[in-house]
Amino acid sequence: MTTEQYDLIVVGGGPAGLTAAIYAGRAAIKPLVLSGAVPGGQIASTHLVENFPGYPGGVNGAELAMNFQQQAEHFGAEILMEAASEIDLSSRPFTVKTRDKTYTGRTLILATGAFPRRLGIPGEREFFGRGVSTCATCDGFLYREKTTVVVGGGDSAIDEGLFLTRFADKVMVVHRRDELRASKQLQERAFAEPKMEFVWDSVATEILGDETVTGVRVRNVKTDEQTVLDADGVFVYVGLIPATKLVAGQVDLDPAGYIVTDDHQRTNVPGVFAAGDVQNPEFRQCVVAAGDGATAAIQAERFLSAHP
Ligand code: NAP
Repeated sequence: MTTEQYDLIVVGGGPAGLTAAIYAGRAAIKPLVLSGAVPGGQIASTHLVENFPGYPGGVNGAELAMNFQQQAEHFGAEILMEAASEIDLSSRPFTVKTRDKTYTGRTLILATGAFPRRLGIPGEREFFGRGVSTCATCDGFLYREKTTVVVGGGDSAIDEGLFLTRFADKVMVVHRRDELRASKQLQERAFAEPKMEFVWDSVATEILGDETVTGVRVRNVKTDEQTVLDADGVFVYVGLIPATKLVAGQVDLDPAGYIVTDDHQRTNVPGVFAAGDVQNPEFRQCVVAAGDGATAAIQAERFLSAHP
């Protein structure tokens, strides 16, 4: 197996990783980006991004991701649609393996993001792809004139729930509290949307179906009352889990599994930086991830200069 050497390897191809690649490319570092099968990360499956600066009318997430990618390539980044399968941070240069190749990097930016948390209830796994989804942007069109349930009360649940109202006749939001976590602006739009209904103080306990989903059993956490909501589809948006499996035990993680960084995106391993949702449980915004990526790339460039 051949080993290819780079000054910087960026693991992850979302807004953080691709912004790092833009900055590193402009600093003539020629980074390698291992983006996984689909560059863009979570933003690529967001139908409308309204809060990324420079797009007063909003921008489709996939289009934004494509723009990031083109900009990174324009400045010399090599973007491979491969996933890292092993990372070794025990000595410099660091080693990153994919299924077919081994790469070494004098510096590393970990920008692997986070993936959707599952509910872990009966029926969820069984009906995944047959009525259960974590991406309304991808699957919403399948629910034209149908009834859907969205579980969760954050920005993702409400944003994607609003997207579903384009197709579905009814979108029932099941939330475990009696107020939403989503931004006020999204809440106002949701409450004004006649197709949206709210099932407050309730948790989904089972997803029901035969060939495909037929309903969701929910329990009111205040009264303990159980009901079944008839539905053709269930969209789960109950937060994210950081993708840190490959570096667990090699770099400091916080109790929730996020990579610990300082305000310069440095991890505890010299030469290894982290950016975006993989290290930021609080401000998981595209623009914040992009900013982290820029900082990480500038720091990587300084590290390379200091360790020729
Ligand atoms: P989130 O903000 O962590 O919200 C997760 C939601 O799921 C919360 O309402 C939470 O309830 C609920 N929840 C968590 N575990 C649950 C469980 N086991 N059972 C039932 N409900 C559960 O996650 P997110 O909505 O995916 O957003 C992630 C980040 O991306 C956020 O920073 C968000 O601002 C950002 N984002 C922004 C936009 C936008 O700006 N347009 C769009 C999408 C996402 P509680 O509220 O009770 O904790």
